[in-house]
Amino acid sequence: MTVAETAWIGVGSNIDGPVSQVLRALDALAGLPSSRLLQRSSLYRSAPMGPQDQPDFINAVVAVETTLEPLELLHLMQDIERRSGRRKLRHWGERSLDLDMLLFGGKTLRHPRLVLPHPGIPDRAFVLYPLAELDPTIMVPGHGRVSELLDRLPASSTASIINNPEWQV
Ligand code: ADP
Ligand code: MG
Repeated sequence: MTVAETAWIGVGSNIDGPVSQVLRALDALAGLPSSRLLQRSSLYRSAPMGPQDQPDFINAVVAVETTLEPLELLHLMQDIERRSGRRKLRHWGERSLDLDMLLFGGKTLRHPRLVLPHPGIPDRAFVLYPLAELDPTIMVPGHGRVSELLDRLPASSTASIINNPEWQV
């Protein structure tokens, strides 16, 4: 029997209508096969990592219960990125849609195409804020609880919640 696991997926966009990009991606993730959407966070706005001459990002996180294998889920996430007409212009630069598998249950994996947990989690406010909104007690293998990681973030690293869903960057 296949056991269902909870996967946490981070969504981000900063070009080509970021709010709509993120909302469409949340819908697409809710429609994944062999999966069921458990939770979706609010939308957040965050300053870009890397090159600063690019717009702010819109971010969100979803929790999905799935019987897919991690690599199957990654393939389907990459299909969603492609179907969105994803444009990615430079490393750590602007992109119309980025889907990152943050966590897959408590799994640790080092595969050429998939690293779990996602190595960026401890440093990224735009991941930790929405994760904490869903459940601050989530354990990130090798790093500790989301609430602890959030406490350790530098004060300069912030993500603000977007209260107006019509707002566009
Ligand atoms: P970025 O690192 O800026 O998000 P991409 O979205 O282009 O860049 O992803 C680059 C590669 O990261 C993908 O080909 C994918 O195989 C790999 N990858 C490794 N671990 C993960 C993960 N946890 N979630 C998503 N992609 C991952
Ligand atoms: Mg990515």
